[in-house]
Amino acid sequence: MECIFCNIIKRNAEAEIVFEDDNIIAFLDIQPINYGHTLVVPKKHYDNFLTLPAEELNNITLATQYIAGAVKRSVKADGFNVITNNGDSAGQTVYHFHFHIIPRFDEDFNFKPRLKDYSTGSLKEYADKIRFAVSKYKDIYNGQKN
Ligand code: AMP
Ligand code: ZN
Repeated sequence: MECIFCNIIKRNAEAEIVFEDDNIIAFLDIQPINYGHTLVVPKKHYDNFLTLPAEELNNITLATQYIAGAVKRSVKADGFNVITNNGDSAGQTVYHFHFHIIPRFDEDFNFKPRLKDYSTGSLKEYADKIRFAVSKYKDIYNGQKN
């Protein structure tokens, strides 16, 4: 399967690379939300956040924190968003996991969706569903912690 990020990693496609190490690569998004918008990508191909093994997650989270600080300082941003889109409905277009680092400036734009209200009792219903799902794989989660 053709993957644009794998091609960038293999140097078969061009990108403005700003940092790399053994595990991750970071390059500028070609369609930036703000100038300096950077993508942080594991060198191994994983489709999305849920398929990323614990060690990779650890590596890429540390790298993203490091690079986010550099992006913020270099473009003199007031803040930044770190986001990951997962699935078509969430806006994922490249199915090779990545974090977006988006520099933000005071009053640049408003990210806020229209907020919903929980009807009576439904706050607990949603929490119960999620508590049940969380408890199902607790052993796997605990096994991954160091
Ligand atoms: P997502 O929509 O979360 O999957 O993010 C994919 C991002 O990759 C988009 O913001 C694209 O603009 C960006 N993108 C796609 N192709 C390239 C490329 N060749 N070089 C740099 N960024 C890219
Ligand atoms: Zn890939």
